[in-house]
Formats: sequence, C-alpha cells, structure tokens
Amino acid sequence: MKTRFAPSPSGYLHLGNARTALFNALFAASEGDGTFLLRIEDSDAERSTVDYRDAIVEDLRWLGVHWQEGYGLKGADTTTTYTQAGRGALYAEYLSRLEAEGHAYPCFCTPEILAGQRVEQRAAGKPPRYPGTCRHLKAPEIERRLAGGEVPALRFRVEPAAKPDFDDLVRGSQAFRGADIGDFIIRRADGGPAFFFCNAIDDALMGVSHVLRGEDHLSNTPRQLLLLQALGLPVPIYGHLPLLLGDNGKPLSKRLGDVSLRALRELGYFPEALLNYLARLGHAYTDNGLLSFGDLASAFQVHKIASAPAHYDPAQLAHWQKLALGEAEEGVLWEWMGKETRARVPVGQEMQFVAAIRGNIRFPDEALAWAERLFSTTLERDDESLEIIRESGANYFQTATVLLSEYVDFKNFMARLRDATGCQGKALFQPLRAGLTGCLSGPELAPLVLLLGTEQAVQRLNECVHILKGKR
Ligand code: GLU
Repeated sequence: MKTRFAPSPSGYLHLGNARTALFNALFAASEGDGTFLLRIEDSDAERSTVDYRDAIVEDLRWLGVHWQEGYGLKGADTTTTYTQAGRGALYAEYLSRLEAEGHAYPCFCTPEILAGQRVEQRAAGKPPRYPGTCRHLKAPEIERRLAGGEVPALRFRVEPAAKPDFDDLVRGSQAFRGADIGDFIIRRADGGPAFFFCNAIDDALMGVSHVLRGEDHLSNTPRQLLLLQALGLPVPIYGHLPLLLGDNGKPLSKRLGDVSLRALRELGYFPEALLNYLARLGHAYTDNGLLSFGDLASAFQVHKIASAPAHYDPAQLAHWQKLALGEAEEGVLWEWMGKETRARVPVGQEMQFVAAIRGNIRFPDEALAWAERLFSTTLERDDESLEIIRESGANYFQTATVLLSEYVDFKNFMARLRDATGCQGKALFQPLRAGLTGCLSGPELAPLVLLLGTEQAVQRLNECVHILKGKR
C-alpha cells in the first residue's frame, strides 16, 4: 500500500495540512510495509514558489513526518519526477490521448459566454452546469475556428448516465450522477492542465493506493474517477478528512496565514507536542501519554477517523507542549532555550538553570525572562512584589540579609528566618521571592538561591532594605 501527501507550495503548511500529511504517514506505517510519498503540486506556477516548497520539506522533517519516496530524497533527480512542474510533457500526452479517443473535445466558449450561461441557469433555478455548447462540433468547424485564431480549452465528456460512485474511507459510500457533473475542463485555454487532472494522473502513475485528503477535494473525486477510468488507469481508494476549523468556525487556510507549522515552531512548540496534538485531531487514541511516531502508527486505524469537523484548540496544544517539555532531556531544553538565554547563563550553571526553571516555563521566551531575572545585575520588580516588600517591612529584609550571609542550606535558612521574624507561610516566603526574583510566582526558591549565589542574593535583599528606607 502507498499513501501520499501532495501539498501545493503556495504558502506555509498550516495545521490542517500537517494533519493530512501525518495521517497519511501514520496510515502507511500502520500497515507495516506501507510507503508514504511526498509530491509537490506546483502546477499553478503563479502561486507556487521554491521558497514555500523548501519550507514544506523542512517543516515536515522537523515535525518528524518522514517519507520513503518522493521529492527531496537523496539519489535520483526528484524535481523532474515528483514535482508537477517537471511533468508537463506527461500530462500533455494523456490529454492528447483523451482527445484522440473521443473522451475530450475542444471548447471555444469564452469565460464571458460561460458566465452568461451560469446567470441564465441560476435565474431558471437550475444548478450551473456546462450546457454542452461545443460537445458536438464537427471537425470542419473546429478547423475553421482554430484557423481563425480561436484558442480552445479541452473539455472532458461526461456521460449523463455515468455513476462515479465510491466508498470513502472516512465518509462511507458516496454517490454521484454524470448529469449533475457536466462536461468539465481538463486543459485551460492557456494550455495549463487542470490541477485535479495532474493530481489524478500522478496518483495513478506513482502507484498510490490510498489517498487521505481534505474534504475540500471531495467534489474533485468523481471527476478524477471518470478520468482514470477513461484512461484505463488504476483508481486509488480515497478518504476525505473533515476540515480543521479555527476559533472563528472557519476552515484553517494557508492563504489566510492561519496557524502555520512554522509560526508555531518559531514560538518554541516541540515537534512531539504538535505530532501528538495533530494525531488526535479526529482520531481517538486510548493512550493519553506522549507517544512517538512509531507508537502513534501502531495504534492508528483508518476506520477510527471521525467524520465530524475538528476544532483547533490552543489549550489542548498547550497541554501537549507541557508533556513534551516534561519529557525533554536537559541538553535538548538547553538548546531549545535559544542563543540569547544561553549567553546569559554563567558557564557551569547551565544544567542547574534548566533543572530549576523547566517546570515553570512553556516557551523559550519565558526561559529568557528567567535568565534575565537571575543573572542581570539590575532587577526590575513588578508592582505586586513591591507591594509585598513594603508590607513586610525593613526588619524582615535586614534579618534575611544577615541570615543569608551565614547560608548553609535553604531549609536551615528558612527555619532561622521564621524564628527570627515570627513570620509563617506566605508571609515568610513571599517577601523573599519578591525580593530575590522581582515577581511572586516561579520555580522553587532553593535552586534559585543557588543559581543567584549568596552574594548576589544578599545584594538583592539589601536593595529591598534601601527601597523601604527610602534610599532608592
Ligand atoms: N495539492 C492539493 C492541496 O494542496 C492536494 C490535493 C490532494 O491531496 O489530492 O490542496
């Protein structure tokens, strides 16, 4: 069995596209010997760019979705074989065959004529459909119009009695009638083949046996079935995935710049978080833990794909981010925190820093904030902290400063501070946190004191004494 992902490089992959890629990869891997193929659908030269093509490849690899055949793999020239831009001659050959065998005919109707016909059909309460104007043109008339400089499109002939029905892997049996489809264009007047024509030819010639793709392509499927049958080419089994809807209830779309994989990656989401989140968008897993690609694949069952639309829920994604962060190795987290953070943490304290803050952050910018808070010589304290500092008074901080200079360990220090100040619970901890870190929430204090070093800690508490005595 062979599945595929066939993105059009007209934007960055959004979560909906990434889920389609992932489901195809999981489906192939779930079959053991399945192959997952990547094909670049850049037949629309105006909207496709090389930069987006490269970005798609890079983002899929980053996500951990790997293909065994197709574009961008080492070895043969994958640009002529697995991009549509490299396959123009092949499409032309199949288009000519359809025309020669009477399955397709030249159509001279201009866009204006077609638009006018649609208006009339709508006014008469009929669905817009090609009325067959050029269907029966005789050869001499075609010759005459061609000689007169008219440039036709090529239209596929659909028999009104045709029944291009199929069983959808996700939506069950689907029935269509040729009469409802009407003859459709497979080569535009500018010579370009229709996107869904190239797409069907490629699937057949590349030996794709199963296609999972967005529901937005469902209306192409009966046309593609008719084309492949006319050419005697194999028809894949299709499954149309329900759309992924954004907060506004509208489908996520590349062109609208909706949550791209790249944007989420730049924010610091872990690939494992996205992989686990996406795998569960419309497919239930009994294991709620963070799973590897292999484990997700073993439990993947195509009939478990839900047919109701899935919604993008940032809170769910945040949940997987937390799990992924919790399971990441310290070295990985250190890299993930980014250059700026790494430059601020003193040599020798790297892993201590990671261990201290990992439970209190979700993204690299929060790690940077902690590095700044701990290792800058000047500390900005937020308003709530200043308030707590004022409430606890100079005596608390003077006492804490003295005890801190005799620091042995955190537990001993806190016990002595409690005895000396008579403060307990929040009243004991909060002023210390406010004085040392400038904010009221964060990682445990004991490792933070170690990271600060007693000298720096003493200095920060002294600052509080000065604030309270009005010297600052
Ligand atoms: N190139 C199409 C797209 O990006 C995919 C079509 C398909 O999966 O069959 O929407």
